[in-house]
Amino acid sequence: MKALSKKNLVKHIQPTFAPKSKKNMGKVAINIATGSLQTKDTIVGIDLGTTNSLIAIVREDTKAPIALREIDGLTLVPSIVYFDEFNNPLVGTAAREKLIEAPERTIYSAKRLMGKSYKDVSEHAASFAYKIIDDNTDSLLKVQVNDKFYTPIDLSAEILRELKKRGEHILKTSITKAVITVPAYFNDAQRQATRDSGKLAGLDVLRIVNEPTAASLAYGLGVSADEEKTIAVYDLGGGTFDVSILHIINGIFEVYSTHGDTYLGGDDMDRLVADFFKKQLPSKDEHDKKHLQELRLKAEEAKKYLSNNEFFESEIDGQKILINKEQFNSLILPLVERTLNSCRLALKDATLTPDKIDAVVMVGGSTRVPLVKEKVKSFFGKELFDQLNPDEVVALGAAVQADILAGNNTEMLLLDVTPLSLGLETMGGLMDVLIPRNSKIPTKAGRQYTTQKDGQGGMRISVFQGERDLVQDNRKLAEFNLTGIPAMPAGLPKVEVSFLIDADGILKVSAKELRSGIQQTIEVKPQYGLTDEQVEQMLMDSLTHAKDDIATRALVEATTEATQMLETTETFLEKHKDMLTEEEVNITMAKMKDVTQAIFNKNKNLIQKEMETLNEVSRPFAERVMDAALKDAMKGKKIV
Ligand code: ADP
Ligand code: MG
Repeated sequence: MKALSKKNLVKHIQPTFAPKSKKNMGKVAINIATGSLQTKDTIVGIDLGTTNSLIAIVREDTKAPIALREIDGLTLVPSIVYFDEFNNPLVGTAAREKLIEAPERTIYSAKRLMGKSYKDVSEHAASFAYKIIDDNTDSLLKVQVNDKFYTPIDLSAEILRELKKRGEHILKTSITKAVITVPAYFNDAQRQATRDSGKLAGLDVLRIVNEPTAASLAYGLGVSADEEKTIAVYDLGGGTFDVSILHIINGIFEVYSTHGDTYLGGDDMDRLVADFFKKQLPSKDEHDKKHLQELRLKAEEAKKYLSNNEFFESEIDGQKILINKEQFNSLILPLVERTLNSCRLALKDATLTPDKIDAVVMVGGSTRVPLVKEKVKSFFGKELFDQLNPDEVVALGAAVQADILAGNNTEMLLLDVTPLSLGLETMGGLMDVLIPRNSKIPTKAGRQYTTQKDGQGGMRISVFQGERDLVQDNRKLAEFNLTGIPAMPAGLPKVEVSFLIDADGILKVSAKELRSGIQQTIEVKPQYGLTDEQVEQMLMDSLTHAKDDIATRALVEATTEATQMLETTETFLEKHKDMLTEEEVNITMAKMKDVTQAIFNKNKNLIQKEMETLNEVSRPFAERVMDAALKDAMKGKKIV
């Protein structure tokens, strides 16, 4: 079976609906307050975080979102799952306490593993204290505890179950519907995994919402009609950082761009402070886990204390430790600078300057650090939205979204964005982009393709994600065969391939041969996802290789065209030998050889030159043959 041939299409068939232009893409309307969603059920908002998770609702009386607080007085539930010897799970603060005692049975940061294969995380695998199964395949990874295997979906489901239980206990009613947030950079696989966890936990996940969008909603930004704003959402959590640029107009949210670092957060600050304390203590065994953990906890305590005080003093094993704010600030300054660099990149992607940003929303526990606020404020040159608890704001926004879905709020539209371009493999291994990166979703795009060989009965549809010109440099998401195309000459079948990304960011690809009506559809649920860094790396690569890519693409296109020309010429010679002189055959063959040689030399200009020569030589014969055929027809043989 041959890969798609787009070449013919470019000449004969115009795309039916090419990726929509930026201008009208923002107008894809979703009515999220449809009748079927009108319900009296409580729909909760859930922030399923890397470090902490929480559940929130909009109060019926005050209409204000609140985070649900259990008897422990805490709203945050550490995203940690501990399993005892009998595989009974324990979630939250109680699980966190087991980190030292039973690290191999205490799973933290499961969110980092969502939608990933072992290959995706292998370079970080050593940093996990628990056992990640390496089956060396592209399938979803698993964590082994005792004799059991858990997928990240199972683990997240445990956390969601705990949140559901808490919510039910507080509200005294059953909770079956939820809105769950994910980072803006989460891909299809990660979103799908999050949705599946919800299902496993007994929750009907009505919507997956981007965290920055939720944070803006919590502040009521963009809620009123005819309001237009561009917002930066700066989210520094426990282990991850991201910044998103949102544009809101008439209640429609669009994510312009997103950048970040999935290994940068409050934990890094703790590590720096712990190292600082270590220098004040007599040297200890590096493998003394208990001591290291104590040091880390003290470091976090110091960090939090310094958010409101100038000086921290304490003891470890009777030894005094101290740190002042100035020392802390100089320790973490490089981290903060790195986040600002991401802000710069996000602005660049959105082609904006800081003065074009109307509001800056602060999200994540680590934005409580005064130096962080100060630097972000001066970077954007504006006051910050930081009045709400930064570690609750995402859940509060999810609750606002839940309230909209419940029909309690006016219609609101939410649009998100695709982080990488989506496309198909065409002839010669070229990437043909159907949905460009940073397109707002939901969106759809389609294009027609045709066959390359006479009687070609099938077509391989390979879906890729990435910015490079050759698919081999991009990431394959899915592949399927459209079979049963009735025998037709090459170039005649019209295969329309459509991409549809729904509001949750899940991609559906369908292919239909228009003449025969045969059709096939797949939902792309990639088996594993990309990390934020990988996405960034792919973008960087596409920039560094842009020049090579253009050259390669030109060569591939020339080669494809020349190969097709050789095939056609050969068929022609065979068919009409009797109408050509020996000399004519010989000269044509010689020119064909020159084309073949040029292809072999991988010389684009030469290929094009030799193709022209071959064309010049063979055109007169071709015309003669055509004339003869025409005369034949004119003789009335076929005309009754
Ligand atoms: P995530 O979104 O990754 O789940 P959170 O938004 O809950 O995480 O942020 C957790 C981080 O916030 C932790 O590193 C924690 O130490 C840090 N943090 C919480 N309170 C403070 C504070 N008062 N000062 C500094 N950092 C804080
Ligand atoms: Mg968070």
